[in-house]
Amino acid sequence: MIDKIPLAGVIGSPVAHSKSPQIHRHWLRTMGLSGFYIPMDVATADLKEVLHTLPKAGFVGVNVTIPHKEAVMEIADLVTDRATLIGAANTIIFRADGKIHADNTDGYGFIENVKAGAPDWKADQGPAAVLGAGGAARAVLAALIEAGVPEIFVSNRTKVRAEKLASDFGQRITVVDWVKAGNMIEESKMVVNTTSLGMVGKAEMRVPLDGLHEGQGVTDLVYAPLKTRLLAHAEAAGCTTVDGLGMLLHQAAPGFERWFGQRPVVDTATRAAALR
Ligand code: NAP
Repeated sequence: MIDKIPLAGVIGSPVAHSKSPQIHRHWLRTMGLSGFYIPMDVATADLKEVLHTLPKAGFVGVNVTIPHKEAVMEIADLVTDRATLIGAANTIIFRADGKIHADNTDGYGFIENVKAGAPDWKADQGPAAVLGAGGAARAVLAALIEAGVPEIFVSNRTKVRAEKLASDFGQRITVVDWVKAGNMIEESKMVVNTTSLGMVGKAEMRVPLDGLHEGQGVTDLVYAPLKTRLLAHAEAAGCTTVDGLGMLLHQAAPGFERWFGQRPVVDTATRAAALR
């Protein structure tokens, strides 16, 4: 008898742009595992029904992307602490006992990418500066705090969102006015852009970057383009730069392992597969 072939996929709307199918299919192929990974465009109104139906069709789990990352938290039976803290989930496991388990691996992906790209950075060395206060910023803050960063400056165009983060994440967060974001960049050991500024089709980053200097790490969650204006400035200033594609690759690994049974390696071939 042939064992059931595990199925997984990504649920979003739209979902055609997602790089997750390329990443998971690359791992399935190169690791010689049987399984399929499918993009699924699902409307918000259908999300609950779809999540309850997929396990009956052989799905072992799914990734969840925009706009469902928050809504899925209400549908799940079990939610990890880190997903609760972040307020969103991106990785769903359909458990054998029928329960829907929701986790968030964005913070893990972020920190693994930084560790790989800026190996000399030590979390406890000094403050970090975070631009932005959206969903991605929440995952980044959770990861920076867990890693042991002593102080984190957060600046966002809409200040009230940054203040909400400070009240949710505690005393290590200091909110900085958007017009003073250049100062916090200068004072930090690690600088993180979590805004969509600099992304293809979005506004360009206009935060003053002349304070960037050698000895800093700089990472941008935006990965289209791979070298954003922030990263180009940082590179010219002698900073260690880490692009955002690695975060996408690393956040995919825990889900893949849970669904298909083996831990994948994030390497240059994985990057190439995601960029194809
Ligand atoms: P989000 O919740 O919509 O937040 C968007 C952020 O960008 C907010 O802080 C927003 O500020 C800011 N922003 C947007 N337009 C701006 C402008 N013109 N001027 C100043 N600030 C502006 O989105 P998200 O989910 O956090 O995602 C943010 C970015 O991270 C996206 O580019 C996404 O693709 C990327 N991302 C990458 C990865 C990865 O694996 N590399 C993972 C997750 C997200 P306001 O609050 O003032 O609107």
